[in-house]
Amino acid sequence: MTTQQVGIILRGDVVVTMNSNGDVFSPGAVAIQGSSIVAVGPEEAIVAEYAAAEIVDCEGHAIIPGLVNGHTHVPMSLFRGLADDLRLDVWLLGYMMPVEREFVRPDFCRIGTLLSAAEMIRSGTTCFNDMYYFEDSVAEAVDQAGLRAILGQTIVKFPSPDAQSYEDSIAYCRTFIGRWRGHPRITPSVAPHAPYTCTAQILRDASALAVECDVPLHIHLSETALEVEDSKRDQGMPPVQWVEQLGLFEGKVIAAHCVHVDDTEIGLLARHKVGVSHNPTSNLKLASGFAPVIKMRHAGVALGIGTDGCASNNDQDMFEEMRLAALLPKATQGDPTLLPARDAFAMATIDGARALHLDNLTGSLEPGKRADVVVVNLESPHLTPRFALGTHNIYSHLVYSAKGSDVRDVLVDGRCLMRDRNLLTINVAEVMGQARELARQINDFIDIREHSLLNKLIALESPEWGETFEIQVKARLPGTAGVEARLNTPTIEIVRATVREQYDTYFLFRQPEMGSIRYREDEVLQGQSAEGTQQTGVLQYVPEYTLTLIGPQREREYERSVILSRSRFTAKATHSLRFYREYFQPDTEHEVVKWRRRFRILYKGEEFAVNLDRLSKPAYDGAFLEIKSRTWSQADAMKKAALVGELLELLGIPVETIVKGEYVTFWLP
Ligand SMILES: [Zn+2]
Repeated sequence: MTTQQVGIILRGDVVVTMNSNGDVFSPGAVAIQGSSIVAVGPEEAIVAEYAAAEIVDCEGHAIIPGLVNGHTHVPMSLFRGLADDLRLDVWLLGYMMPVEREFVRPDFCRIGTLLSAAEMIRSGTTCFNDMYYFEDSVAEAVDQAGLRAILGQTIVKFPSPDAQSYEDSIAYCRTFIGRWRGHPRITPSVAPHAPYTCTAQILRDASALAVECDVPLHIHLSETALEVEDSKRDQGMPPVQWVEQLGLFEGKVIAAHCVHVDDTEIGLLARHKVGVSHNPTSNLKLASGFAPVIKMRHAGVALGIGTDGCASNNDQDMFEEMRLAALLPKATQGDPTLLPARDAFAMATIDGARALHLDNLTGSLEPGKRADVVVVNLESPHLTPRFALGTHNIYSHLVYSAKGSDVRDVLVDGRCLMRDRNLLTINVAEVMGQARELARQINDFIDIREHSLLNKLIALESPEWGETFEIQVKARLPGTAGVEARLNTPTIEIVRATVREQYDTYFLFRQPEMGSIRYREDEVLQGQSAEGTQQTGVLQYVPEYTLTLIGPQREREYERSVILSRSRFTAKATHSLRFYREYFQPDTEHEVVKWRRRFRILYKGEEFAVNLDRLSKPAYDGAFLEIKSRTWSQADAMKKAALVGELLELLGIPVETIVKGEYVTFWLP
């Protein structure tokens, strides 16, 4: 019998093929020529039939298909551990996006990708599906590392680190696809981030580009219950149905998450051959929920496993992910027979490849497929002993006992990327050094920001800087009627009068030099809502939400009033109170709720606010009078302070009723 010459033969204790027969050869061997697998079978048969320039001895090892990571954001490895245990919106809007705006550049993406590639290779991943910015730089790093990947250029509706507008993103994406299409290992793709970060038009344009260029489309879909709720409210249907109606499923789609999908949506995913990436750690960490993995598998959805980005995982070890994927349905559905180890292993290999529309190339050890092969050391205490009762035992070991660190060798496209745990394509010490340097810069940025409420506020909104000087006087009143009557005097001109309900929440901090934050819900119940706009007809006022940063103040008494000087920034509050609480993390929080009759008055040509307040929280029986004015000028402040003294007299306020301080400080211990 003549033997056929090949490049490499790997021979080991067990070869797990993940072919459609579920063949496991023990002992087994894999013959590789160039980038392709030539033969897989019992060791004896392979060595009899093939001669190789290089024989890799894998005694005591399992030879398995390279693992497929279905959903990543690889440059985000540089954010590992930066901000954890937060809700998705606080994490994303409060930390990730401001830091991304500041730091994400082509070189950042290159370094982050190499760091992730090193981690993935060391834990047996040979193929991954990515979505991030500057994906061109990601591709260059992946090319160097030697991994196989689908790389998706992110498209979102707001400005991103690599594009001022979504049109720029689409243009970048088109150029990116043009550059990388046809690469043996890299598949460029279009990645509209999610339905809630895109518009219908963006989704249509992204889909059209993917179809036109015949590349995959990668999107986050139905990750949280909130996303589904919002979609039902805004689009009249859940996200999967909505994007299907927009025509998104015409191309080769890969959807990350699909945690909250109903039976109809599962049917749509299966019918349109949408690949789904289940990301158990990310879903657990962000408390997104439990994806209906068993239902999706039964419906025939191509379902893989992903780690998601390092900021929501925090590692990219597919062995951990497989184990979690196998355990979760058992616990959540009270049935230990669900998703046996073999199925979980399939999700991380052949099913994962199918979900990425790459199962013609990778995901199993079969002749004709690319040689994406991983060698796992089985000779460790945590993998001992092994039983030979059928083939199930090897899957149990790989899913429940093995760790990423058990991986010894990794080949992609027939090229060895790691041998005896030595990385051959990445200078890992250099990359780790660069990652540490970037982390130091990010650390400084956050450190400065964390110690300044203003920086934190600016990171989020665009606040307006208010006047430095505030002239203020406050007095206790038995009731409001007397003052109201006295306001009707010829020397005082009432410019505008409103009745409002104000709900203030103060965030206070142990270090007073940090200042404080006031979140105000201001609801006009009666009168003009804003300068110059006269409300007519049926009064329907929308409450205004503002966020005010009140800097530490210097106080000086002047005549009978007080002049305060302090920095003051106000922004429209676009997020919920809960969001700001979790973002600013105050040491204490106090509520002040008041009914306010507010008069804008002119006295001797100067404008003042006269407020008549009744507090319901903290409850107080009487009322308060406040006279206030603001200015940039200290001289002006002194002049106004004198006028406030005159006003107090005109309004008949006895000196002994004057009180100092802000409402919020009255009841503080
Ligand atoms: Zn993601």
